[in-house]
This record gives sequence, C-alpha cells and structure tokens, in this order.
Amino acid sequence: MNEMMVQTMNFGVPMIYMWLLMILAIALYFMPTIVAGYRHHSSLFLIVVLNILFGWTMLGWLLLVVWAFFGDQYSTWSRPAEKKCPYCAEYIKSEAIKCKHCGSDLTKAPT
Ligand SMILES: [Zn+2]
Repeated sequence: MNEMMVQTMNFGVPMIYMWLLMILAIALYFMPTIVAGYRHHSSLFLIVVLNILFGWTMLGWLLLVVWAFFGDQYSTWSRPAEKKCPYCAEYIKSEAIKCKHCGSDLTKAPT
C-alpha cells in the first residue's frame, strides 16, 4: 500500500511544476484584485474583500473580474451630488451657488 502511494506520487510531473501550477492558480484566483489594483480601481478595497470572500464561487469570481475590468468607468455614479460648472467645466457640489474653481455665480442660468 505504501509502495503504491510513492509510485503514484512519482508518476506525476516534477515538484517545480506543481508549485508553478499552484502559484498560477492563486494568481488566477486573485485576478480581480490584481486587475483592480493595476487599474487603480475606485472600489479596490471592496473588490479585495469580495475576492477573498466569494472568489471561490465561480459566479462571484466572474462578476468580480468583469467589475475589476470595466467597473471603474461608472465611478462617477458614486458622486451623484456633483455637477459640472457651466463656466469652467470643473466638478462642483450640486448644491453650490458659487463655483469654487472660477468663482462664477451659479444662481443665474448661463446664457
Ligand atoms: Zn467654475
């Protein structure tokens, strides 16, 4: 029985390939984190946490990869309380009546 086990162990690929495969698997598992980090994703912290918690579920992992790759272009959604100044095109608070960038009076509608 013991001999059989040793034989099975030696039958496989060399140990270095096993290690490489394991590193590859770990890298693949944390791909959402790696991609999000590389892209300086605005939700990087959340992706890292969700990656650790739900990365083992195929669907969770897939959603995280998609989010990490494409999610950031919707980052403006996270600041709906901001508007664009019609005078200098800088983003300011939607409640603002005076632009902090160019000092324009925003109570008057731009012509
Ligand atoms: Zn302005």
